[in-house]
Amino acid sequence: MDLTLSDEQRELVRWASEFAESKLAAEAMLRQDRDSPAEWQNHSSFLAQQGLLGLSLPEQYGGGGLKRLDALLVVEAVSRVCPYSGAIVRWTVGGPSAFIAELANPELKAAYLPDIARGAAAISVAMTEPDAGTASSDLTSRAVHTNGQYTITGSKIFITLADRATAFVVYCRFVEAGGDAGVGAIIVNRDAPGLRVGERIEWMGGNVYPLYLDDVVVDEAQVLISPQGSKDSYKRLMQTYNVERLGGLFELLGIAQLALDKSVTYARERHQFGKPIASFQAVQLRLADMAMRLAAARLLTYKAASSADNGTVSRLDVSMARVTTTEMVQQVTSDAMHIHGGYGLTKEFGLEWLYRFTRHHTIAGGTSDIHRSMIASDLTGLHFDHRE
Ligand SMILES: Cc1cc2nc3c(=O)[nH]c(=O)nc-3n(C[C@H](O)[C@H](O)[C@H](O)COP(=O)(O)OP(=O)(O)OC[C@H]3O[C@@H](n4cnc5c(N)ncnc54)[C@H](O)[C@@H]3O)c2cc1C
Repeated sequence: MDLTLSDEQRELVRWASEFAESKLAAEAMLRQDRDSPAEWQNHSSFLAQQGLLGLSLPEQYGGGGLKRLDALLVVEAVSRVCPYSGAIVRWTVGGPSAFIAELANPELKAAYLPDIARGAAAISVAMTEPDAGTASSDLTSRAVHTNGQYTITGSKIFITLADRATAFVVYCRFVEAGGDAGVGAIIVNRDAPGLRVGERIEWMGGNVYPLYLDDVVVDEAQVLISPQGSKDSYKRLMQTYNVERLGGLFELLGIAQLALDKSVTYARERHQFGKPIASFQAVQLRLADMAMRLAAARLLTYKAASSADNGTVSRLDVSMARVTTTEMVQQVTSDAMHIHGGYGLTKEFGLEWLYRFTRHHTIAGGTSDIHRSMIASDLTGLHFDHRE
């Protein structure tokens, strides 16, 4: 069993880390406060010029052609220095672009992936509805087929980056079968008549948006996957969602490492009672716990990602990595604030933002409760029907 990175992977991480330190570090903790669609766009273009976007997308579509794990290592390395930049990099690797890279036909890939790789496009996934959150297969948005087109009606909520997305992967019901049987997804461009992004919803770490689809007419060529074309379309969407989820975990590993790095430095430099606070056992134990939690989460996440390239990403591995890593980062960023004392709670030190920004990951992408339930299902071999 080899749990180490290859020479090539280490070189890739070194390259990404050096770039991040030299080009991103100076303003790393300021970027999220300046965030806007224009700022995101500018910074995306800059990162694309440096060869950091779309690293795992196929070369024929302008991507870097890297294995997914290798590209995700870059997400981690960049997030460790600048979480805002890391989020952009991941959005083009394991983020929503994964849906197009994994599921689209060659025409759709050619239409969307090159723009993603050059930082000119952002895709949002629109799955959640007001009455279909954890029970995502209860969604009621509909796609009705007539004369080579689909007419889509419905509303979505909590859509990340909807203020700047150039297109949306919209989950909807293609046939009137109950549960997940009739669900597929279609790509809807932002400028489609009848599509409207609603007022922003502020959450503790940023903004999300409702999305309204009012008789939006889309050519049938925009279908990503439908129950008519693939009888297990919902299952395949959720398998792809597992790949998408992995990207977020590498971002969190980088952020947790950043919080730990800052804490180690501070513990050595901050003096109380005439000596560094690192000499106090309470601080030492907290640092050790942070490092152990991070190391354990990293191993689980790397294991889950190692099978992503051959299409065999394991739901069990992803759920275990997800619960462990999303809960780890909450604890580690909270511990980092604690080690920094009162300063840790100030905006100036940036740690409170890391804590706020990462908090949603035990909810978005499937709550930790539902992931635990899926882990238990795999362990026991029992299918838990949450409707009974
Ligand atoms: C910041 C943020 C960004 C998001 N981005 C997106 C996005 O880009 N696209 C998108 O489509 N969605 C997005 N979401 C939505 C997210 O996926 C949902 O919030 C999530 O799936 C939970 O749904 P809900 O909020 O309706 O909670 P609910 O499903 O109502 O859950 C409420 C509580 O009940 C628990 N619960 C529910 N069912 C069960 C069960 N069977 N067993 C045990 N516990 C259960 C949950 O764990 C939770 O604690 C985002 C959410 C947030 C907060």
